[in-house]
Amino acid sequence: MNPSKVDIGYIYSTFGVAIPEGNREIFSPVDGLTIGGFTPASADQVNLVADRALAAFSHWRSVPAPRRGELVRRFGDALRARKTELGLLVTLDCGKPLSEGLGEVQEMIDICDFAVGLSRQLHGLTIASERPGHRMSETWHPLGPVAIITAFNFPVAVWAWNAALALVCGDSIVWKPSEKTPLTAIAVQALFDKVAGEFGPDAPEGLSQLVLGDSATGAALVDHPAMALISATGSTAMGRTVGQAAAKRFARSLLELGGNNATIVAPSADMELALTGCAFGFMGTTGQRCTSLRRLLVHRSVYESFVPRIISAAARLPIGDPRDPANLAGPLIDGAAYAAMRDALADARAAGATVHGGERIAGPGQGVYVRPAVVEMSAQTGPMLRETFAPILYCLRYDDLDEAIALNNAATQGLSSSIFTNDLREAESFVAAAGSDCGIANVNIGTSGAEIGGAFGGEKETGGGRESGSDSWKAYMRRQTSTVNYSRALPLAQGVRFEL
Ligand code: NAD
Repeated sequence: MNPSKVDIGYIYSTFGVAIPEGNREIFSPVDGLTIGGFTPASADQVNLVADRALAAFSHWRSVPAPRRGELVRRFGDALRARKTELGLLVTLDCGKPLSEGLGEVQEMIDICDFAVGLSRQLHGLTIASERPGHRMSETWHPLGPVAIITAFNFPVAVWAWNAALALVCGDSIVWKPSEKTPLTAIAVQALFDKVAGEFGPDAPEGLSQLVLGDSATGAALVDHPAMALISATGSTAMGRTVGQAAAKRFARSLLELGGNNATIVAPSADMELALTGCAFGFMGTTGQRCTSLRRLLVHRSVYESFVPRIISAAARLPIGDPRDPANLAGPLIDGAAYAAMRDALADARAAGATVHGGERIAGPGQGVYVRPAVVEMSAQTGPMLRETFAPILYCLRYDDLDEAIALNNAATQGLSSSIFTNDLREAESFVAAAGSDCGIANVNIGTSGAEIGGAFGGEKETGGGRESGSDSWKAYMRRQTSTVNYSRALPLAQGVRFEL
């Protein structure tokens, strides 16, 4: 039997679940072998789930928020206790190195901690009324069932960003993970069910549900009138469809879509920092992060000394079985991802670029392992202006900062960006109003890898949504403005007169 399946079977047994079977095969990208299967949920099954979510919401919204936070605290503790097993499942599910699999579970734990604190801080406002004897206030109420649709590259952390906040905000949740990576989701849902079951009657049945399926299952969820918020993470193409479907019925959507992220390396940069930041940015997670570095803009005066070092780092990167800590990168998710990579490199060559690396290399079983590609461009054209979800770094020279910022902002997506510089004027210009137009603008760190404390998301075709820290919780609640008249008169606002 496939050894990964044996590992998964054992881990699953400790969560009290069995490997699912069904007409859609699940592969581990680690070795390309089948590890299970599932049958996508039908529209009728989605309807049942949505009805249950609505019933759960009608109870959960009235449970005091700090008590809701207590459930999330217990869930965070359960994640802490099972971090090792869940981290390994993430690695087997999507092929990222084990340190990143464990890091993904740590991110789930961190957002639970954040949400617990938040559960006592869902603050509204009091507002000065222009009318005597009146008090005006703004209160945040639970919104309704939230559909959480997630991408393959973060099989569980992005769900946790949404789930932890939605739960303390008083919402029920329905999760549709990527059809490519449903494995860890099944274990996480089992863990949540156990914690919720032990919590007592405050946590209603159906508070958090999992539906397995593909885009059709996702679409049925998006269209269901019970779903008050659609939080969808994935490609820009998916977001364009989902955003329009949600808007059609005036549901809220929170879209976290693709990125075509750039780093500027200025003449004053600390070149060692820049090398590590850029190398991790484009090769880490095999270029399969929404924040992965894709475009490198290097000042002409340092291009010849810096870019060869990036090319050499890519040629030397230890790539292989992501469970082996000696490897810093694992496989691509599947053969289709490699085909997209090959197409992008062919387009780059056709545009006159020089390509270093990018070939398929040996790895365990039928896993799709590739050498990262560094592509030297003479202009920002062709594939450099689209997101290819693979380790490809397009390099371009620039002459002055304004030009570099314009190149950074020329992408249709606006997720992450960074600059390496020791020049204060350049650093501040990059993060100023006329600087980077992205949701994330970093100085002296790479584009990739964010902490949960800040709001996460991007502009333009990245969808505009914000998740995780800061005040992102407001997306999961509805705002109510109340004016209370405690006087004996009924003055109208703006001095309007209406006397009977
Ligand atoms: P994808 O768009 O193929 O799928 C994402 C999810 O959307 C899956 O669960 C899929 O089943 C579902 N889906 C697809 N079409 C749908 C539809 N019409 N209705 C409802 N659901 C639908 O993306 P992927 O290949 O899994 O992930 C890679 C992409 O995700 C990249 O573009 C990456 O940049 C992006 N991403 C963005 C973020 C972010 O926070 N901005 C995070 C991770 C990944």
